[in-house]
Amino acid sequence: MKKEHIVIIGAGIGGLGTACLLAKQGYQVTLLEKNETTGGRARLLKEKGFTFDMGPSWYLMPDIFEHFFSLLDEKIEDHLNLIKLSPSYRVFFPGDKEFPVLDLYSDLSKDLDTFEKLEKGSAEKIKKYLERSGKQYDLAKRQFMYRNYNSVFDFVQMDFLKEGLKMNPFQTMESYLDGWFQDERLKKILEYTLVFLGSAPDKTPALYNIMNFIDFDMGVYYPEGGIYKIIEALENIARKNGTIIRVGTPVSEIIIEDKKATGVRLENGEVIFPDHVISNVDMHFTETKLVKEEKNRTFPQKYWDKAVMGPSAFIIYLGLNQEVKTLTHHNLRFSVNWKDNFKDVFDNPKFPDDPSYYVCCPTKTDKTIAPEGKDLLFVLVPVAAGLEFSESQKKEYRDKIIGMMKQDLNIPNLEGMIEYESLYAHQDFQKDYNAFQGTALGLAHTLKQTLLRPGNKSKKIDNLLYVGAGTNPGIGMPICLISSELAYKRIRGIKHPRPLKDLNDI
Ligand SMILES: Cc1cc2nc3c(=O)[nH]c(=O)nc-3n(C[C@H](O)[C@H](O)[C@H](O)COP(=O)(O)OP(=O)(O)OC[C@H]3O[C@@H](n4cnc5c(N)ncnc54)[C@H](O)[C@@H]3O)c2cc1C
Repeated sequence: MKKEHIVIIGAGIGGLGTACLLAKQGYQVTLLEKNETTGGRARLLKEKGFTFDMGPSWYLMPDIFEHFFSLLDEKIEDHLNLIKLSPSYRVFFPGDKEFPVLDLYSDLSKDLDTFEKLEKGSAEKIKKYLERSGKQYDLAKRQFMYRNYNSVFDFVQMDFLKEGLKMNPFQTMESYLDGWFQDERLKKILEYTLVFLGSAPDKTPALYNIMNFIDFDMGVYYPEGGIYKIIEALENIARKNGTIIRVGTPVSEIIIEDKKATGVRLENGEVIFPDHVISNVDMHFTETKLVKEEKNRTFPQKYWDKAVMGPSAFIIYLGLNQEVKTLTHHNLRFSVNWKDNFKDVFDNPKFPDDPSYYVCCPTKTDKTIAPEGKDLLFVLVPVAAGLEFSESQKKEYRDKIIGMMKQDLNIPNLEGMIEYESLYAHQDFQKDYNAFQGTALGLAHTLKQTLLRPGNKSKKIDNLLYVGAGTNPGIGMPICLISSELAYKRIRGIKHPRPLKDLNDI
């Protein structure tokens, strides 16, 4: 029998993951990527002996990665040397006389003491809180994350509703946490993970308290050599099973005839005629630019006018001429005016005056990614998507952040230590990934955009699927690998909602 030919547009982690699954099952897969390397938002930047992961730096949910590799009959340890970080991360509370700096370990024997110091009686509460989060995480994996949704009627099935209500979907994270804890610092620690979902505590449903279980019980890992090792592993597995990967190959159109995607047109004019098309390109670009006619779009422009986009990121890549003493691998500086900061990012877009920001110093764990005796910093400030600013405003904001780092993180000589520097922000996300409003993450995980997240199948075109952060289940590398599994299930016609046991688990 002739193997069906699948074209996947975009080699982000979701596109690569889908290619791996389909190629392993014997499909003929062609992966078309606009940029010169694969990985999408998880690409590499190599300059002056420093190797920067350009986007993701937190390896969370190791169970999801392990499951994914096992579907491919691959052992994750043959591809990645995973190191469990200890501490998991360091938090900085500027101006706090009592606890200006705290380390969190994803080890309750250490973390409970820290919580108890912040709020008397909280150690017992956090144990109960995490026990509950753990149950909800299991439920989410069994019932919700690996399920393909077809319509809103999926939500009104009795068993689904009964289970779904156990996840506190209609309360916000902010009010949920207010019900458990009083100390503002403690709440900040439990809320910061929402930034991974591109959302704010007062807009995110409480079901995402599962992020705290992921953080405190499962731990934070790092693949030696950097996050890009994950991309290399997936690319190798995809190629090994026959996927053709073409980089530097932007697609300009999904050709549609009689409600069927019959081909894709490349920017160079070439046309390819597959049996199915799967787009890993941001949903907005796919739906409003690659699908040319409005009648063929599931989500036209007016959907996007109301959509809540996750923040963009103001990123500074720094190669230093020496090591920094005050940092660990992951470092979070928490805004003093926590709620105002979220307002600046979501409600009244502007460069935050008192931003929360994140500094990754992976050279604390991995000496292979920088010249000897030198540190590499990845500095990320979440800022509103769609923000417009000039080059001089960008430079001013950079100066402000470097100034804050000198003080907050106690690196007074930072300016003098910089050997390599580059900035990356909105326009770069737009140019490199066709990202709507320069969003770093895609559609935010608000309540509406969690429950009614765009499905992975076009409602108008028979054989057009979507994969990646813009569709179910959402943002983050492991989550995108789940979206790959969901696209695979669609192609194979697999309807059950649980994770696949193997590729023939129909
Ligand atoms: C700064 C930053 C930090 C992050 N931190 C973390 C983290 O610590 N941990 C974590 O798990 N996640 C993190 N994330 C989120 C995670 O990186 C993303 O959710 C995930 O990588 C998105 O993958 P994706 O499959 O949706 O595709 P993307 O990575 O968005 O890739 C889409 C691909 O499509 C290509 N493309 C676009 N247009 C075309 C076209 N016309 N033709 C062909 N190809 C095209 C793009 O070039 C790109 O390669 C972070 C993201 C960013 C930006």
